[in-house]
Formats: sequence, structure tokens, C-alpha cells
Amino acid sequence: MATPDLTAIDLHHAGVPEMIAAHALDLGDGTFALVDPGPGATLPRLEAGLAELGLELDALGAILVSHVHLDHAGAAGALAGRSGATVYAHPRAAIHLADPSRLLASATRVYGDLMDALWGPMEPVPEAQLRVAEDGEAFVLGRHRVHALAAPGHAGHQHAWLLGDGRAFPGDAASIRLPGQDVIMPATAPPEIDLEAWPRTLDALAAARLDALHLPHFGVRGGPAGGGADAVLEHLERVRTALQAWTDVARAGIAAGEDDAALAARLERFLRAELAAAGVPAEGADRAIRAAIPRMCAVGLRRALRRA
Ligand SMILES: [Zn+2]
Repeated sequence: MATPDLTAIDLHHAGVPEMIAAHALDLGDGTFALVDPGPGATLPRLEAGLAELGLELDALGAILVSHVHLDHAGAAGALAGRSGATVYAHPRAAIHLADPSRLLASATRVYGDLMDALWGPMEPVPEAQLRVAEDGEAFVLGRHRVHALAAPGHAGHQHAWLLGDGRAFPGDAASIRLPGQDVIMPATAPPEIDLEAWPRTLDALAAARLDALHLPHFGVRGGPAGGGADAVLEHLERVRTALQAWTDVARAGIAAGEDDAALAARLERFLRAELAAAGVPAEGADRAIRAAIPRMCAVGLRRALRRA
């Protein structure tokens, strides 16, 4: 998982390994960047991971946020406050980073009493440290050239961050694929799933001729040891196929008049069949279900199909 200057730190979210990664990128000038630092609840785990790499928060120069969901951006404000790092984000993401109150209120409606244990606090990012990146904008971080690519579909305010050397952080645009499980699970939780924008995002990522996708959920696709650009293209095509398949499953459930619970059960049955066909053992399948959260995906797909 480690390349010389890039490490995926396993945040062991809710005690489960290989569910959420934060990426630490050496900037070559004595500082480093974090891509999607993860939830507030796993900040101690992130700090332990940084310490293992010999990295101190004083040297945190930049935080790249793909989108503001709590599993990606929850810890950004706390880290920015303590380090002085600049936080790069999509214009609409920046609004929520500066004032997470609405985001937290809507997450609390979904997660209720589990909110603290699952996600922990989300502090605002000091406004002077926020740096909005528009779609297509490029900037320099140490020895890296970073390119912001708008990546709607999972969230309308999502950026993929592309490095000049072909490595990319696609956020949830490239969806979920757990290590050792050859099944792609589209991240279709509400509220912003856009089934028309998402394939266009996959087109844009494919056109960028990337060499490696560093997935937040979880691991690398492509890269020097993993088939490079061809493997990236294959992964993106498979995300497209999986998204279409999940959409078809949801459409069938909606046509059958299913409520959210029944629709979630239908999606879970579909996913378990795919996992079984891919040879994933039962406990691995349970982990995949935890990562994909069909209960949320059912709601997200229903909303998206209502809008379409
Ligand atoms: Zn997300």
C-alpha cells in the first residue's frame, strides 16, 4: 500500500480494518498533505498512523477534501485548526467546511444516537485557511502539481484530485471495492446521487489517462504493481456497469411497490449474490455490506430515480 511518498492510513473505522483510508502525501519540501482525513471519531487513529510514519501535525501543509461527507472530511476542521494547514475543496464543499452545522444536523437526523460513536465531532475550518478550487484548476503543492476535476454523481460538490504523475484520489466517484474482494459497490447513499452526472464523471476520469486510483474505501487500483492505466480504465468501466446494475435492481424494487426496507433487502440480496459469485467468504461479505450500507443506497437510488 505504501509507495515512497504516499501512504494509505487505515482509520479502522468503528474498529473495522480496511473500510476508510486517509492518504498522506509527502510534498518533498518538509511538509505533507492529507487527502480526505476521515471522520472526527478516528482522529486519534489518524494521528497514530502519522506518528508511525514520523509525521507531525506541524508539518501538515495541506488538506485535500474530495467531498464533505463525514467519513471523508469530518476531521478536516480539527486538523486545520491545530496545524494551520490550507484546506482545498470544491466551492460548495467549502461552504459546509466553514460552517458544518447544517451538515451535522442532517447527519444527526439519519444517525441519531449513533452520531458521536460513528462520526465524532466536526469542527469548522477557519475561513482564512479555506482555499476554493474550481473545476479544472491546477495548483502546486511542494513537488506535486494538483489538478481539481469536478466529479459529481456520488455528491454534486465532489472533486477528484489528480496529481501530475497520473495518480489520483477519486473520492467516492470510483466507488467502493474492499481489498481481496473483486466486487465493486457503487456509493449511492443520499442525498445527492445523480445517475446522469456519474457516468460523465467516469468518462472524465478515463480521459485523464490516470495511472492509479487511490480509493478511500479501500486500496489502490492500477499503479506500477497493479496494471497501471489499463487497470484504472477497467475499474472505471466496472463502476459504470455496477452503477447500472444497482440502478436496475432499484428500479425493479420500486416498480414492485417496495418500501425502503424491502428495497434495501433486495439490494443486499443482489450484493450478497455478487460477493458469493466472486468467492468472497461469509465474514468478508458481512464486511462488504457494512461498507456499502444497502439501507442507505436504497434511499439514495430511490431519490435519484425520482428525479431522473
Ligand atoms: Zn461520500
